Amino acid sequence: MSGKNVVLFGPPGAGKGTQAVKLSELLSVPHISTGDMFRYHIKNDTELGRTAKMYSNKGELVPDEVTIAMVKERLSQKDVANGFLLDGFPRSLPQAEALDKILTELGIKLDHVINISVADEEIRSRLAKRATIEGRADDADPQIIQNRINTYKKQSEPCLSYYRPKNLVKDIQGCGTIEEVFNRIRSVFS
Ligand code: AMP
Repeated sequence: MSGKNVVLFGPPGAGKGTQAVKLSELLSVPHISTGDMFRYHIKNDTELGRTAKMYSNKGELVPDEVTIAMVKERLSQKDVANGFLLDGFPRSLPQAEALDKILTELGIKLDHVINISVADEEIRSRLAKRATIEGRADDADPQIIQNRINTYKKQSEPCLSYYRPKNLVKDIQGCGTIEEVFNRIRSVFS
């Protein structure tokens, strides 16, 4: 099996979370989701949670320095020695650059950036559906959904131009069933 240091990338609603759970099981590596980490802090009303809430409620990114510090701390833990699956990070160019620095310090090399692509219309309908199923506050309001799509295009998508020249990006079509998408992802590791 090829390298297990993986970033899962894609717009909101691409199915990153669902695929990440399955892929982390397949690779036996920890699933590190910055969205889940922020939601945990928000639920427990920690200081970090209160900061994160101000941004995630609006469909904006939590400031880079806050997010980078949280990921740096997580990647310093021992369980990433055999690989990791980052879900939802990096999401801005400064985060991608910071990740490089963190990994260099740890003596780790990134192996794959799995880019799940989904059309805008499909994103909107998936997020609206998720709002009714999971009750996520940031999925419920069309204006917040639009903000998240805009934020993705403006701040997150440039990460792909950062990783493409490094030959790390594996493009995966996000349409179809969960299993169909997972089989495409799985083929990267065979
Ligand atoms: P997600 O579940 O990945 O869609 O994340 C939910 C929310 O958490 C996002 O809309 C952001 O407000 C925040 N968030 C998650 N990951 C990041 C990140 N890498 N950088 C900044 N904010 C993030």
